[in-house]
Amino acid sequence: MENQSSNQIEPRMGRRLLLFPLPLQGHINPMMQLASILYSKGFSITIIHTNFNSPNRSNYPHFTFHFINENLSEGEKSASDIAAIVQLLNVRCVRPFHDCLVKLLSDVSEEPIVCLISDAICHFTHAVANELKLRRMVLRTGGATSLHVFSTFPLLKEKEYLPVRDSQLEEPVVELPPLRVKDLPVSKTSDPEDLYQVVVEMVNGTKASSGVILNTFEDLEQPSLAILRQAFGIPVFPIGPFHKRFPASSSSLLTQDESCISWLDKQEPRSVIYVSFGSIAAVNESEFLEISWGLANCKQPFLWVVRPGSTSRSDWLETMPKEFLEALDIRGHIAKWAPQQEVLAHPAVVAFWTHNGWNSTLESICEGVPMICMPCFTDQRVNAKYVSDVWGVGVQLEKLEREEIERTINGLMLETKGEKLRSRILHLKEKATQCLRQGGSSYQSLESLVTHILSSEL
Ligand code: UDP
Repeated sequence: MENQSSNQIEPRMGRRLLLFPLPLQGHINPMMQLASILYSKGFSITIIHTNFNSPNRSNYPHFTFHFINENLSEGEKSASDIAAIVQLLNVRCVRPFHDCLVKLLSDVSEEPIVCLISDAICHFTHAVANELKLRRMVLRTGGATSLHVFSTFPLLKEKEYLPVRDSQLEEPVVELPPLRVKDLPVSKTSDPEDLYQVVVEMVNGTKASSGVILNTFEDLEQPSLAILRQAFGIPVFPIGPFHKRFPASSSSLLTQDESCISWLDKQEPRSVIYVSFGSIAAVNESEFLEISWGLANCKQPFLWVVRPGSTSRSDWLETMPKEFLEALDIRGHIAKWAPQQEVLAHPAVVAFWTHNGWNSTLESICEGVPMICMPCFTDQRVNAKYVSDVWGVGVQLEKLEREEIERTINGLMLETKGEKLRSRILHLKEKATQCLRQGGSSYQSLESLVTHILSSEL
């Protein structure tokens, strides 16, 4: 990782922060990175975490950890309906979280606690912090643009864009150009009303906080940041990209397979398509087959992350077409979980076929790797639309069908198209590097954040 000047560890200032992540990989990574960033600014750090998906505390010897029991059953933990899991967590965590906070606040042997920083989705923390008179900020782990879109949900409902109807998918959302109805951040696996409630409560809980921290940077999302500053009426701190200060590997819940890197070392520069759909998205059996046929037919080397549980059959490799197995032998590699940031930084990688989770999107931008976008749900759809149509650093895979996959990958390998995407993403990569340097926008925003946190004591 780059050693930014802002990365030096400053002396302890005798002030403690409590951080509470949502226990999902794409939320744990940025929260633990934020913890490391704030530790480097001199704060002491306590992480409050659920037992479910708990981070490996041995990777953070300088932090204090407190686990709470959220009481989710095994079935509830593995449900594909994310809105339902989030709703359960927002109910089941209230009491244990409250009790944990009471204990921590009364512990005089530790430094004074100056602020709670909770994942924005854990909106229940607002009432608890209020009751205990503890200042609360939130970390929104997605981008500024999707947060703005989420904040318009009541309007989108009033204008009847929500709930989304299949007959309207291609229509523009005139209030939110360039989004079409199909780019709105909804999910097929969640009940629309449940998702609506989760979103509205997240937005209200954010507006009621004493400030929102975002893993983004001004040059990437300036118009949306300006809207948020006006519409939310709270301080907004875009201090990203976090992972360029502290990598995500230490908060990985699954073991990262390092054979990906030794395999990449043997490939030609700019030849490999990296395929990964993050920690939650899953594909059904026929979609899985289309992906394998697409990879077999396009004739490019590929590195494919097949996470356990991301496909319905555990014996999927045995069911693969012989053409795919031949292609895998000659020019493919499969891993259960990759060291993604290292993979994206590898010179052999030419493109990232991604679900456009916000972390993956930022990681790709920061390494200058153009994207093939296949968003699955919620903010991924907004991110994908911005990648393809606003920043112009990727292409959308319009249909999950083998011919379309082959056409899209081969199109991206064409010099004219690929080079245009690459030159735009390299430009953004440069901006992402600059913003962290002394005097850069994220560097300054971090300084303001530290001042803001300490201002509660004035
Ligand atoms: N990731 C990883 N190895 C993989 C796939 C993903 O380490 O094989 C990391 C990736 O670098 C990112 C996170 O998991 O930091 C996924 O977050 P994202 O927001 O992209 O998607 P989500 O998992 O929340 O859908």
